[in-house]
Amino acid sequence: MLPWVVRRTRLPLLSLRCVDCRSESATTGEGRFRVNANGKLLDVWLLVRCVSCDRTSKLTVYERKPVGSFDPVELDGYRDNDPELVAARLLDPLIARRNHFTLDWTDAWRLDIRSAFRDEAWPVQVEVVLADPVPVRPDRLIARGLGLSRNEVVRRIKCDVPLHRPTSAGFTFTVMAGD
Ligand SMILES: [Zn+2]
Repeated sequence: MLPWVVRRTRLPLLSLRCVDCRSESATTGEGRFRVNANGKLLDVWLLVRCVSCDRTSKLTVYERKPVGSFDPVELDGYRDNDPELVAARLLDPLIARRNHFTLDWTDAWRLDIRSAFRDEAWPVQVEVVLADPVPVRPDRLIARGLGLSRNEVVRRIKCDVPLHRPTSAGFTFTVMAGD
């Protein structure tokens, strides 16, 4: 089975409406958290800024969470703006839902294909691994990866997931011989 890997090349933008200029795109920029102590309770926010007017907004990561219930390493990460933690919180679907944004993955990922198909014995099986939760449409990804038209994809591909529905999970497909 040949592996294809989808991975991010940078952090995605956020589709989030700015309250000032109504733009619908925001970025985490270099990635900053703000931690605010209120007695023994902590608020943690991830800061994002509007790509049009630079207005900063706060996304809630934790609200009034007891200091003692934090993993100390994680808490240090918030205080040090650990880039891994910025990525993890930005890509966390629960945080996206709570803060009403979606991720805009346009031009933020690539498809790594290690070997070409030229001399393969057909049919060929390919496993697509999503190293990051990028929503991909299988038919478009396969067309791009194989250099096929989408009609050809429909004719030559057998896939274990619906071809037209975006998925953020891995899948496998089989390429049948061409005419
Ligand atoms: Zn704005």
